[in-house]
Amino acid sequence: VTRIWIAIEIPPALLRDIEQGVFYCSESILHSRVDRSRGAGIELEIADGADGDAVESSVRHWIEQVIARSLTYEDRTLREWGTMPGTFAATPDAIAASSELRTLGEGLVAYGPRLTQVLRSIVRLCDGLSEAIGAQPLTLPAVATLEHMQRCDYLHQFPQLLSFVTHFREDYAVIDAFAAQCRRGQADACQPRPEALRPFARLLRPAVCYHVYPCFEGMTVASDPLLVCATGDCFRYESRNTTELDRLFDFRMYEIVALGSTAGVLRWRDQMISQVADLLEQLGLPGRIKTSNDPFFVSGSVMKSTFQRAHDLKYELEVPFPNAEGKLAVASFNHHQGFFGSRFEIRSRDGAVADTGCTALGLDRILAALLVHHGLDIPRWPASSRRRLGIG
Ligand code: AMP
Ligand code: ZN
Repeated sequence: VTRIWIAIEIPPALLRDIEQGVFYCSESILHSRVDRSRGAGIELEIADGADGDAVESSVRHWIEQVIARSLTYEDRTLREWGTMPGTFAATPDAIAASSELRTLGEGLVAYGPRLTQVLRSIVRLCDGLSEAIGAQPLTLPAVATLEHMQRCDYLHQFPQLLSFVTHFREDYAVIDAFAAQCRRGQADACQPRPEALRPFARLLRPAVCYHVYPCFEGMTVASDPLLVCATGDCFRYESRNTTELDRLFDFRMYEIVALGSTAGVLRWRDQMISQVADLLEQLGLPGRIKTSNDPFFVSGSVMKSTFQRAHDLKYELEVPFPNAEGKLAVASFNHHQGFFGSRFEIRSRDGAVADTGCTALGLDRILAALLVHHGLDIPRWPASSRRRLGIG
């Protein structure tokens, strides 16, 4: 590998986003590290044989664009609890090496029986939160149509995260040719020819809540807010930021979604923030709730991130974690204002366009946080945490 240093002043608020977003500039970038202490630039490791000058100029151009388009705000902390541990009980590497976790492909994990038991307990706790507030459970598909995601305005906002799904054209000549190609040989001989495939019309869902809104299309919601919940696998292409434990391609999310008046949705969100924070505290995890913004890609969405901060549209729950930033976002609390309500013609009881909001819990990340804070030996976790999880 070759190391290159790009001297460019980076505002503190953009350090993390730039360190993680830079991988989408070029596939030859293998590793990135921003200068966290002075914000004086970024160091990249690039693959041997890659054109360093070309990488440097595209990275520099991208960073300049990001900086030019963003007005940075100070993050605001809403609540903070627990104490930062001096040392963690287990490192992500040790957890990834455990027989309870198998990586079956980049960002694809399989959990063994003990971790599955904990994961199920976390889902039960989420179901408990839902039941207590009267959220009705829904079952939703893991695949979304291109049309639907376009309607949700997701495609142009987060293109770097997308994973498209397609299939063969209905034509046995084409299908048989592929089968013959795959009869023997290595997997890399099994790439379908682009013309054998139908245009991409579907995507793997990047979050659970997008499917909720069309379920209420054209309706006036009867309560304020109306609450539903759903859980399942979500998919995001995280490029080189993918890890074996906490930044996966295929991960599990639990979402509670509210539809109603602005006041109703905001009141509900405050309630969720305090209940989820209480829950994590009861599980023995320290953390804090802070304002946040979504990751961005190249241009317009950077403005979106400043907008989000300015309007308090997104809060995140972070837990101390042994990674480069020292923390991991395990849940988010979002207010979409009337965005989905107007796109899907949903009305609140008073006849106005409904506001919506969602609380999204990252199940794998809550599990990862429990493991780094309490260790790999589950029977030795704090008794109060095990009691809250309902495990022996
Ligand atoms: P977001 O919609 O970005 O607010 O994501 C909701 C939650 O999903 C986050 O708070 C994380 O806990 C979780 N999450 C997001 N991306 C990933 C990922 N790549 N791997 C695991 N969990 C994730
Ligand atoms: Zn959501």
